[in-house]
Amino acid sequence: MENLGYVDFHCHVDLYPNYSELVHECERLAIRTLAVTNAPCVWKQNRELLKNCKYVRPALGLHPELAHEREKELSLFAEYLKETRYIGEVGLDDAPQNRSSMVIQRRVFREILKLSANEGGKILSIHSRGASKEVIEDLEKNFTKGSGQCVLHWFSGSKKEASLALELGCYFSINMKMINSKRGLDLVKTLPPERILTESDGPFIVIRNEPSTPKDVSIVIEQLASLWSINKGKAARQIQENLRRLLL
Ligand code: MN
Repeated sequence: MENLGYVDFHCHVDLYPNYSELVHECERLAIRTLAVTNAPCVWKQNRELLKNCKYVRPALGLHPELAHEREKELSLFAEYLKETRYIGEVGLDDAPQNRSSMVIQRRVFREILKLSANEGGKILSIHSRGASKEVIEDLEKNFTKGSGQCVLHWFSGSKKEASLALELGCYFSINMKMINSKRGLDLVKTLPPERILTESDGPFIVIRNEPSTPKDVSIVIEQLASLWSINKGKAARQIQENLRRLLL
């Protein structure tokens, strides 16, 4: 078996038409994949479909863009919380098209942070588009050190905000789009290598007109390797080591 030692810490596995093929590929290639989900109502089916996986783990989520439609599912979220260590995708999205639901988004996200902190030991994959400052403030207030671990997915805030997040102990999962933009790359350069994970954010990120898949984190690892002036294998091991530490 080919073990590439890759980590994809944010992939919407259940949104691919060829779900089981994709899961088999992750298992075959030993890609440690966090299968984030967007609503508590799909938790059970994801848990069932992934129950025999060694490398793919489901996460319980409530996506900020669905908060206004799915707020009622917070009771399901609370019910399923005990079944998993992994929470995501959760967070806030203050892009213009989602601004009208910010009041509901805040209520949902804070409740999720509160529930997760109370349970303890959870690992969260957090969305923060247009709302990085507020997400970090929320983490500071409602998710103090020791409450669990946070991974900021596709972080697009400022360097100052990133450094606040680092102080709070956050990790960052980096995707192809980030590393291919000047602003994203500039930010990644300021992050310590030991706080970085990789992600595909598939199927939303597209590569050569096809939805990207977990093995495409290869491209991110290559770029990180060049940034860190080490070879690709060593960069992959760094990411794997980071994941191992996060899961301790
Ligand atoms: Mn996502």
